[in-house]
Amino acid sequence: MYDLIIIGMGIGGVTAGIYAKRANLNVLLIDKGAVGGMLNNIETISNYPGLININGADFSQKLLEQIKDLEIPYQFSEVIDLKIQGDEKIVVTKNEELRAKYVIIATGTKPKFLGLDNEKDLLGRGISTCATCDGAFYKDKDVAVVGSGSSALQESLYLAKICHKVYILNRKDRFKGEKYLETKVRNTKNMEIICNVNIKEYNEVNGKIESIILDNEQKLDVAGVFIYIGYKPNTEIFNNLNILDEQSYIKVNEKYETEIDGVYAIGDVIKKDVYQLVTAANDAIYAISNISKKVLYI
Ligand SMILES: Cc1cc2nc3c(=O)[nH]c(=O)nc-3n(C[C@H](O)[C@H](O)[C@H](O)COP(=O)(O)OP(=O)(O)OC[C@H]3O[C@@H](n4cnc5c(N)ncnc54)[C@H](O)[C@@H]3O)c2cc1C
Repeated sequence: MYDLIIIGMGIGGVTAGIYAKRANLNVLLIDKGAVGGMLNNIETISNYPGLININGADFSQKLLEQIKDLEIPYQFSEVIDLKIQGDEKIVVTKNEELRAKYVIIATGTKPKFLGLDNEKDLLGRGISTCATCDGAFYKDKDVAVVGSGSSALQESLYLAKICHKVYILNRKDRFKGEKYLETKVRNTKNMEIICNVNIKEYNEVNGKIESIILDNEQKLDVAGVFIYIGYKPNTEIFNNLNILDEQSYIKVNEKYETEIDGVYAIGDVIKKDVYQLVTAANDAIYAISNISKKVLYI
């Protein structure tokens, strides 16, 4: 039986893995996707101390190297259930059942969509939630970015380097994101901000977006729409555990403990004020400090 299984290998899960290994815990990291999680969707990170304008995929690669260097056990599989059997936690993957004394949930979030009729069908055919992954498909074309937070501003600046024109569609009249990014956007020639609008319709030709209609009846001829309107937590598999709040985030106390003894949660999957790389790493360190005291001294 493991001392600790960490579900999710984003910055939160990997940081927890590093600290757990160095505390001599018998730990296992699991992820269904790639090391780095959300980092893989970010073009450039400019606010992580000590790393100047690092590309998200390169940052993820460094995390993988660090996992290997520290010889932290890890596996790629999807966790489909978490069962509690007294003091034992059973992490069920698609292939096996793994047992641990402690579990950290670090499963992050996934993007929200606008909910328009043909939206799901157009995903990958004009609609995207990842400029880093899909931006190159829109080289020299016009695109729209929907959103008003830092993610929308940051990723639209990336798109502006590739695309002919980038519209930023904000349903309010002001931006929620960092002022530094907003100023950069306002000073970028091939970007146009349109406030107080929503997309009403995606027009498609041969299964691909050809234009969009806004609720002020304006038509924009864009080949792509990048949606950055927020995120929802990856917690469906924990629905039956009674550890979620009304928005499906995991509720934790100041030690990152959930209401189930021995089950912790960190990073973007918990309810908190600031969702950033450094705050996910911070959560991890507190959780491990607490778990390692319990494993090693009690
Ligand atoms: C576009 C964008 C730009 C951003 N820019 C910045 C920035 O410049 N600076 C900054 O500090 N922050 C930025 N952020 C926020 C930052 O990316 C997040 O706060 C951080 O990455 C969250 O890390 P995490 O480990 O909590 O979750 P994630 O990175 O989301 O990792 C969760 C991991 O869990 C895995 N997982 C989920 N469900 C399962 C399952 N059932 N089984 C197994 N594995 C599972 C996923 O595959 C994923 O790898 C940005 C976010 C976005 C979206």
